[in-house]
Amino acid sequence: MSTITQEDLKFDREHIWHPYTSMENPLPVYPVTSANGVRLKLEDGREIIDGMSSWWCAVHGYNHPVLNTAVENQIKGMSHVMFGGITHKPAIELAKLLVELSPEGLDKVFFADSGSVSVEVAMKMAMQYWFTKGEQRKNKFLSIRSGYHGDTFNAMSVCDPVTGMHDIFTGVLPINHFVKAPQCGFYEDWDEKDILPMKDAIEQYQNELAAIILEPIVQGAGGMRFYHPQYLKEVRQLCDQYNILLIVDEIATGFGRSGKLFACEHADISPDIMCVGKAITGGYMSFAATLANKKVSDGISQGAPGCFMHGPTFMGNPLACAVGVASINLLLESNWKKKVDTIEGILREELIRAEKLSQVSDVRILGAIGVIEMKEAVNMAQIQKQFVDAGVWVRPFGKLVYIMPSFVISEKDLRTLCQSMIEVVSLQ
Ligand SMILES: *Cc1c(COP(=O)(O)O)cnc(C)c1O
Repeated sequence: MSTITQEDLKFDREHIWHPYTSMENPLPVYPVTSANGVRLKLEDGREIIDGMSSWWCAVHGYNHPVLNTAVENQIKGMSHVMFGGITHKPAIELAKLLVELSPEGLDKVFFADSGSVSVEVAMKMAMQYWFTKGEQRKNKFLSIRSGYHGDTFNAMSVCDPVTGMHDIFTGVLPINHFVKAPQCGFYEDWDEKDILPMKDAIEQYQNELAAIILEPIVQGAGGMRFYHPQYLKEVRQLCDQYNILLIVDEIATGFGRSGKLFACEHADISPDIMCVGKAITGGYMSFAATLANKKVSDGISQGAPGCFMHGPTFMGNPLACAVGVASINLLLESNWKKKVDTIEGILREELIRAEKLSQVSDVRILGAIGVIEMKEAVNMAQIQKQFVDAGVWVRPFGKLVYIMPSFVISEKDLRTLCQSMIEVVSLQ
């Protein structure tokens, strides 16, 4: 491996944008030279335990021989070929798996190149569905507060207007509607009043709504909250009752993270449109998909222009599809459910001790996701260094210090990760 020099880092600082940091006064970046299993190797030789799975993606850990082989074999065949007028086996195999594993009825697959794009596609599908039915007025979306759906424009327009990281764009984004986030937690007794704000908003805006869009059960980057499955069940019923489409964004939750293969299964519902991404390729390539049911695809196909108007250049990229197939098969063969349940048990045992720290306002755990919510926003540069010095990679934002480790993490590494988390949190 070639080394990363001080000069390289200076170039990086001066010329390369990193996510959510200033170009003028950037937060420090840590040079990583390789990654293996659940460990990131730093330029200075230290190996740290990864708690982030590279933002939900690397569910099998890094440098996995099965996934490596899938990519290598596919490269020998073809890395890419356009999807207009052409098809290939990796795309067909991946679509088969998605249709088979996803909630009932979702049997039309649109391949996109990132999560945000799959959300754009989902929203565009919903709008086009109503356009072709001659219901031009139904072109707005209703979502819940504390949501996050990506960084492109329509996706931003349904992120929480305050915590969704895009508040400065409020004035130029398409105007959509929001209701208070569900208050009833995943493990609490269901309170039937929790659905009332949603019901009121649907009644008020029903004639202009194309769809309701939300993250199922787990709200990710907009607040790391876990809400009651009954809420999702009732949203599905309301959508049916008022003739509104339901879009579910499983980009973070899909492929086992919440303890179900898809978080929709906690509520036993099927949406009209579903986005998947992140863990779909086991963290190897940028890729996502938008699944739709027959109602949506028929609606779009049976009116002018008769086809869905979207077609990314890298649509159905064979390398991404091949590694996606390998990753999903690996997951299915890996006893993932038992692994996630074991991780959940250990997270609960270890992280619960943070509840009594004066800096902490809440501790939440669901599946392979552990969240410590602080009373105050953390100092990022400082806490990041403390984590690295403690031998772990944890990247908080705002008040949220959280982990979603890869499913292959050993009990010992997971306990070390949790203990370091508590140690560092208690230093704040
Ligand atoms: C990450 C994420 C997205 C955006 O995906 P990108 O691949 O970053 O564009 C959308 N929705 C949810 C729920 C996410 O977690």
